[in-house]
Amino acid sequence: MLDLHIHTTASDGTYTPTQVVRMAKEKGFTLVAITDHDTMDGVAEAMEAGKQYNVEVIPGVEISSGVSLVVHMLGYGMSPQHPVIKAMLEDMRLARVERMYRIIDNLKALGIPITAQEVEALADGAIGRPHIARVLVAHGVAPDVRTAFREYIGLGAKAYAERRKMTSEEVIGNIRAAGGVPVLAHGGLLRLTEVELSAWIDAMCKAGLMGLECYHNAHTPEIERFLRRAAKERGLLVTGGSDFHGETRKDVDLGTGL
Ligand code: AMP
Ligand code: ZN
Ligand code: FE
Ligand code: FE
Repeated sequence: MLDLHIHTTASDGTYTPTQVVRMAKEKGFTLVAITDHDTMDGVAEAMEAGKQYNVEVIPGVEISSGVSLVVHMLGYGMSPQHPVIKAMLEDMRLARVERMYRIIDNLKALGIPITAQEVEALADGAIGRPHIARVLVAHGVAPDVRTAFREYIGLGAKAYAERRKMTSEEVIGNIRAAGGVPVLAHGGLLRLTEVELSAWIDAMCKAGLMGLECYHNAHTPEIERFLRRAAKERGLLVTGGSDFHGETRKDVDLGTGL
């Protein structure tokens, strides 16, 4: 068994890289990839834990890219120290911090005073909206994270703020430049028609895309079949992962949806 899509406390997961690897071992997995949002800060710890628990750990990342269409691009096998990767991830870290301040300003305008310190206290690494949502819940502003997104910080909600992103082509190019393997994450969540998705995949192949995540807990059997066929027709790799986040998404366990 393997799982190629896992979040840790380095982004918005609730288990540390070591805990995740230990859980994978307990489930009998032989290989996992750590794919935190816009950061590889959890990779070194996970690889150490991998040696300890005898689980193969692939370094990875999940980059939010795209301008009008937000696309999650998985990257596998790069060194976190590669200069192209380091520069890209540092830029994304700054973009996340900057967006947090804009969301906090928007919330302040609505009479909701949360502070950057409260959000940062919850985040070990990449600052995400889930961290802001948890602060809103702690303040009693929203009953749960889902409501916090719907009412305040989700796309189109009252305090939403856009984050500066690179194009998907640029992200693919950077991953390839660092010797990594770029893979489209959960293509079924793009909400495109099959014709649109096919055209988009063709365009990304020209930019150097190497694989499609076909197996994902949010994919229907139809979209899974579609993506597998799309991969086969283009000679792309087929991958799968749970998108495990720990307690943030209690219904999704390690290795599910494969
Ligand atoms: P960010 O990368 O900081 O923009 O946050 C995106 C993350 O927020 C996603 O990976 C989800 O885990 C979470 N998220 C996005 N929309 C929602 C929602 N409506 N309810 C709960 N969590 C969400
Ligand atoms: Zn996440
Ligand atoms: Fe994603
Ligand atoms: Fe993910």
